[in-house]
Amino acid sequence: MQQQPALLHELRRTSARVGRNILLVQGAGGNSSIKHDDLLWVASGTWLADAEEKNIFVPVALSAARAALAQGDERVPLAPDAGTTLRASIETSLHALMPHTVVLHVHSVNTIAWAVRTDAREEFTRRLEGLAWRWLDYHHPGLPLASVVNHTLRQDKADVLILGNHGLVVGAESCAGAEALVDEVESRLALAPRSATTSDEDALRSICAGTAYRLPKDPQCHSIAIDPFSRAIATSGSLYPDHVVFLGSGLPVLERVEDFRAPASRVRADGLPHPVALLIPGLGCVAREDASDGAEAMLSCLALVTCRLPLTAQVRFLTRDNESALVNWDAERYRQRLTANRGAD
Ligand SMILES: [Zn+2]
Repeated sequence: MQQQPALLHELRRTSARVGRNILLVQGAGGNSSIKHDDLLWVASGTWLADAEEKNIFVPVALSAARAALAQGDERVPLAPDAGTTLRASIETSLHALMPHTVVLHVHSVNTIAWAVRTDAREEFTRRLEGLAWRWLDYHHPGLPLASVVNHTLRQDKADVLILGNHGLVVGAESCAGAEALVDEVESRLALAPRSATTSDEDALRSICAGTAYRLPKDPQCHSIAIDPFSRAIATSGSLYPDHVVFLGSGLPVLERVEDFRAPASRVRADGLPHPVALLIPGLGCVAREDASDGAEAMLSCLALVTCRLPLTAQVRFLTRDNESALVNWDAERYRQRLTANRGAD
């Protein structure tokens, strides 16, 4: 078993704090790392919020990982005596390629709300002035993204990467420095949410009675169904990888409550699972009975992002090709099994 460097203990505290902030990390999204000697200690792809209670970091042989990535191999090797059965995060390549000692990658709500737009480049330039930052168009978060990150970092030093339709990566020489940089970027990109909406939870509860659905845990989710602009976006496609992985592409609207209440509606005629969530215009949002903690966190994220998109925003959705690359990705299926329910190890 590899001896754990002191900096890793600090990263645990930082990661848990960042992971508990829903505006920065939702569910198993986001990851963190440090580099020490020739080891990259990187989160395993589970909930960052658990970083203090659980051993979520795995040691990766850094130069071997960089050599593998340069050869087009994304199966980054763990250190020889890693002493774990966990796999390194599917986003390990980002961490290996950044030269900084500490790297934080977050799916921060304000960054995402800008990074799903095609009309925001000037705003980024103005708001991030003075930071060493770069914009990267959307790329699949395995090897395709790694090769673009590699290319970008070879041309220029960058402490901040804005990943189109995805999130934020920052690098610094200390945990405090990295956390401060995340906060700096998020405060520069801060967007006011559209005003809160009122849901009718009693009506939703009565609609759900006897069906395969229930109320979501987070009442903020209802804004996706009630705010017409949020609903229009949420039904039109997916905005970022964890959106399509956990919620599918485009949430359906429940048109006829009468059909939904029929006993037969507990089972779909085609045998496929019901959608993980449904939007009921004017009332709120309902989640499938067995919706995972991860899916619930993504519903919250979708509410937080869509209510920060102005009505005039030009939104880029993931393409069908982007989506199918994500949902058919073996590494992503592994993460789904590992993290869908937070209580499970
Ligand atoms: Zn990510």
